[in-house]
Amino acid sequence: MSRLLSAFLHVLWPVSCPVCGRLGEVLCAECAASLFAPPLPRCLRCGGLFPCPRHPNAPRIRSASPYNEKIKSVILPLKYGGLRAVGQPLGAAMATLWERPDADLLLPVPLHRRSRRGYNQAFEIAQGLSQAWGIEAVDAVRWSRRLPHRAGLNREERQALRPDAFIVPKKLRGLRVVLVDDVCTTGATLTRLAAACESAGVSVVGAYTTANSVEK
Ligand SMILES: [Zn+2]
Ligand SMILES: [Zn+2]
Repeated sequence: MSRLLSAFLHVLWPVSCPVCGRLGEVLCAECAASLFAPPLPRCLRCGGLFPCPRHPNAPRIRSASPYNEKIKSVILPLKYGGLRAVGQPLGAAMATLWERPDADLLLPVPLHRRSRRGYNQAFEIAQGLSQAWGIEAVDAVRWSRRLPHRAGLNREERQALRPDAFIVPKKLRGLRVVLVDDVCTTGATLTRLAAACESAGVSVVGAYTTANSVEK
C-alpha cells in the first residue's frame, strides 16, 4: 500500500497493526501468521498433554501459540486495550493452521458477567474462524452465577471448577460443537465447558485457542 493511501486511510480509519504498526490495518494477515508456532495439543478432559494416557479418546485443545511476548502483542490489545477489531483477523489467520473441523457450530467461552469489556474477545476470534471455515459462531453459553473467592485461581478458573458453572441452552442439543477461547491457562475453563456441553447433550469435537500458557 502506498504511503499516501495509508495516510489517507489513517484519517478515515485511524488504526494500525499492533505488530508492524502499518496504518489502516487492524492486523495484517502476515503479521498474525508470524506470531504463530502451535505448541503440543492438550487433552480436553483434563488439560494435560495430548495424547492423554487417562483419556485416550478425548478431543484435543489446539492453540496457535504459546503465551509469549509475541502473541501478547495482539492478545493484550484485544483483551485490555479495547481493540475489538483485532479478534476477527486473528481468528481468520488461526484458521489457516488447521483443517476445518467436522462441526456444526463454534462456541466461544462466554464473557464473565462482571466483565466491563463490553464485548467477548473469544466470540470475536470465533467469528474470524467462522468466516474461514464456514461454520456458524454463536455466543450462546452463559456463566451461571457469581462465586466467592478462592485463593490461587483466577475468577474464571474458580467458577469453571463448579459442575454448574455454565448454562448451555437446550437448542444446542444434538449438535457437534468446537469451543473457542483466547488463552488456555490451566485448561480448567475449557474442560469444564466441554463437560457442561456433554451433559447437555452437545457433542464437543475439539477446542481452539489463540494462546496456551502451559508449555510442558
Ligand atoms: Zn502488520
Ligand atoms: Zn486427559
